[in-house]
Amino acid sequence: MALIDFHCHLDLFSDPHRVAQEATRRGIYVLSVTTTPSAFLGTKALAPPNSRIRTALGLHPEIAVARENELSLFEKLLPSTAYVGEVGLDGSRQHRDTLDRQGAILTTILSLCAAAGGKTISLHSRGAVKPLLDIIEYEPLAGRPILHWFLGTEKEISRAVEMGCWFSVGPAMLRSETGRKVAKKIPLDRVLPETDGPLAKINQKKLFPWDAIGVNSQLETILSISSAEIEDIFSMNFKRLISLSGRDEIL
Ligand code: MN
Repeated sequence: MALIDFHCHLDLFSDPHRVAQEATRRGIYVLSVTTTPSAFLGTKALAPPNSRIRTALGLHPEIAVARENELSLFEKLLPSTAYVGEVGLDGSRQHRDTLDRQGAILTTILSLCAAAGGKTISLHSRGAVKPLLDIIEYEPLAGRPILHWFLGTEKEISRAVEMGCWFSVGPAMLRSETGRKVAKKIPLDRVLPETDGPLAKINQKKLFPWDAIGVNSQLETILSISSAEIEDIFSMNFKRLISLSGRDEIL
């Protein structure tokens, strides 16, 4: 089974074509998330024909309020993809004051996903886990939520699991104590690897899709399960998730 990077910002690398080509050469399954609907088609065009790169339609919470006018473009493009992201809520200091507006935008996005029959959705939840889970719960037909870089409490993890959420974890997340704590609590059969590159960095070095392999060895240490076994589990999870997605989009 090839490597998987289920949350990567291909279009934000300084040489996105080279990264897309290298990921393709290595046969990596990449979920290439976007931050605005207007970036979707250009980002999709980065994926060489027959690559395992799939592009998600996004409206990142840090810019969602400023780009709210792109919701109509979001709606127009939605039928062309099975994947949505990056979307979500950001409750960190700089964005806390727009949380209500972000919530209204996310509610609209999830209702569009529900009306479209459900999508596989990569969600950001920094500093806003509770309101994010509330909004997901409110729209159960939106599809399959994948909580990316999720740093919830034990109670919030249980709640998310009961709601059917999945999780994507990356090398940078697993460097933090909180991230490792979360990794111990989330069910491994709902986890996929990610990098969040190039936004995520380790020692100032941007993460590339192939750095998703680091998750296997980190989890080997954290969970005391062999990295070979973790790789098998990721591979099974990925197949299960894609079959749930209802469209043979990525295989
Ligand atoms: Mn991201």
